[in-house]
Amino acid sequence: MDFEYVYSAEQDSFRREAREFFDARVPTDRRGPVDPESLDDDTFAYFREVHREMGARGWLYPTYPKEYGGGGMTADHEMVIEEEMARRQIPKHFSNGLVLPSILVWGTEEQKKRFLIPLLTGEETCYQTFSEAHAGSDLAAISSTAVRDGDDWVINGHKLFITGIREPDLMYGPFVTQPDGARHHNMGYFLIPYPTPGVTLTRMTLMNGPGQLFINFDNVRVPAGNLLGGDDEGWQVAATTLEQEHGGRGAAFSPDEDTQELLAYVRDTKRNGVAIGVDPTVRLNAVDNYIESQIHRLLETRNFWMYVTKREMTYHGAQSALWRKEFKVRNAIREATIMGPYALLDHTDDAPVAGGSPEVRQRRNVAWTHPGGTPEIMRLIIARRLGISRTRERAAPTPSTATSHTG
Ligand SMILES: Cc1cc2nc3c(=O)[nH]c(=O)nc-3n(C[C@H](O)[C@H](O)[C@H](O)COP(=O)(O)OP(=O)(O)OC[C@H]3O[C@@H](n4cnc5c(N)ncnc54)[C@H](O)[C@@H]3O)c2cc1C
Repeated sequence: MDFEYVYSAEQDSFRREAREFFDARVPTDRRGPVDPESLDDDTFAYFREVHREMGARGWLYPTYPKEYGGGGMTADHEMVIEEEMARRQIPKHFSNGLVLPSILVWGTEEQKKRFLIPLLTGEETCYQTFSEAHAGSDLAAISSTAVRDGDDWVINGHKLFITGIREPDLMYGPFVTQPDGARHHNMGYFLIPYPTPGVTLTRMTLMNGPGQLFINFDNVRVPAGNLLGGDDEGWQVAATTLEQEHGGRGAAFSPDEDTQELLAYVRDTKRNGVAIGVDPTVRLNAVDNYIESQIHRLLETRNFWMYVTKREMTYHGAQSALWRKEFKVRNAIREATIMGPYALLDHTDDAPVAGGSPEVRQRRNVAWTHPGGTPEIMRLIIARRLGISRTRERAAPTPSTATSHTG
């Protein structure tokens, strides 16, 4: 049995509106680069403006509440917008939106208005500052501190591997407020504007490119109103952020262009006058890529459905995050097996396959097994939530399962 999406008349009409907007606003030769981390300044500035215009329509974060700058729309609208953006290869907002659910769940009314509106309307961008040199998988081991001083908090320490292709307007993450406090109850979660005196950004170049930052905090002052949740609740607030990062929101639409590119390559490429798909090794590897990518789509769609219908999630988020991290590496390896050295031609070479995107996948798919927790950490979370681990754990509150901790 096959699945087929059937769109309602209302969805079709909204799709026409979205398509008209994108077609009129973005010329067909304007698209994000093959390697997202090699975005030039002109393309960055161009799409920042497109994002602002989408934000003004509520299309950047369609399902977020209107009063805080979101679209107040349905999951169906989000799906249509994402499909249309993917069709035109329009990059997503250059912002790490994983803080948005944490502000909705843990923020005061004043914080929601102050911080959500500029982010949801696309006026501002934010980066996630969690990891430290000795606190990646074991995030609770962070040692950067925030000390109360009058009406301010004074922040010291560093964060690293922070994803962001330019400079943010806001950073967010946990800092130790009570050095002698119990683990998981010794930190607060701060929203730190950028620029602020004492913050320095240094670009890191990893195998995936120059997309990460080392950030140093030297006596950085932030007002007390920038603490989200209580001064010992930072771990719990961070858990809401991580719940989403671990796949707990799923995806309205999971693009499959990597596999489509590979299938087109197999279909259209001949060696010695013979289609390469005749080789059983090529065929079997290509089919495995297709199947694994479809499993990913189904897991993401299931999670999105669970999220919007407010079903309680346990292992589901980490299951799809684990699958995504691992199948993308397997697919890159199989792609290299099929293409051989052609998989390594990048966009600067004479005739790279698909503009050089297979080469990007060879590097990127490995590096991106790390953010938000490695595959081993995803397995740990699944075990805890299946009740087969030393410790047991429930999913953190998200906008789908909690309303607010302050209201
Ligand atoms: C491309 C990229 C983007 C990133 N973006 C961000 C960002 O925007 N913001 C941010 O805060 N951080 C970011 N990170 C950091 C990322 O979250 C960490 O790299 C990740 O949490 C792993 O931490 P670590 O690198 O310190 O490795 P470690 O924690 O030192 O782990 C090393 C190895 O040990 C394994 N391991 C650790 N603990 C266990 C365990 N209990 N059981 C079994 N195995 C274990 C790990 O799986 C891994 O293989 C990014 C990293 C990368 C590579």
